[in-house]
Amino acid sequence: MTVLAPTTPEFLGLDADNLIAIASALIAVIGVGVAAVIAQRSAIAAKKSAAAAEASAAEAATISHIERERRHDDLAPQHPIEIVAKREKRSGVRPDLYGSITIGRNYRVQGVAWDGKSFTSLNLPLLLLANQPQRFFIEPAPVGSNGLVTQEVHLRFWPPVAELDGVDGWTCPCDRPTASGVQEPPHWELRIPVSYQRPPQIRGF
Ligand SMILES: [Zn+2]
Repeated sequence: MTVLAPTTPEFLGLDADNLIAIASALIAVIGVGVAAVIAQRSAIAAKKSAAAAEASAAEAATISHIERERRHDDLAPQHPIEIVAKREKRSGVRPDLYGSITIGRNYRVQGVAWDGKSFTSLNLPLLLLANQPQRFFIEPAPVGSNGLVTQEVHLRFWPPVAELDGVDGWTCPCDRPTASGVQEPPHWELRIPVSYQRPPQIRGF
């Protein structure tokens, strides 16, 4: 008499074909499960990679913004913290006070004088040329014991426009206004105090 092992196919009443079919089905089920796990992991990996790409793009944008702002600051007009008014007397005419600005780069410029209450336009050219002192009228020289009326000059600057200004153009990489006009907001603005030292030897002015 033959004793069958309890786990043999014959014991379960399965022939080889059935066994193969079951095995195939099991493999298919396992395969589907593995595929699902792989798909899930891939999806997670894809999400992580997308998030990483987003983070790196955001970081790049931040760095680029910082670099643009640094460049903007580098291109800003540099000027001493004060303008010292100087009197100029022409014969038969009351002396006037003049200021002078010298900037190390070509800029479009507009300027106003501020007396604490109101603004007066300064007679400046549209274009300031690099390293060339630009003289401008401030106000008539104070009379008697009167002091200087003008407190500050406010200068608004923009990069020059090469095709309009006939000078070498340059640009600032930031997003601030690039073309000047009467109504344009400034790209840079300097507010510079004005001082005046009355000459001690001159009386009456
Ligand atoms: Zn700028």
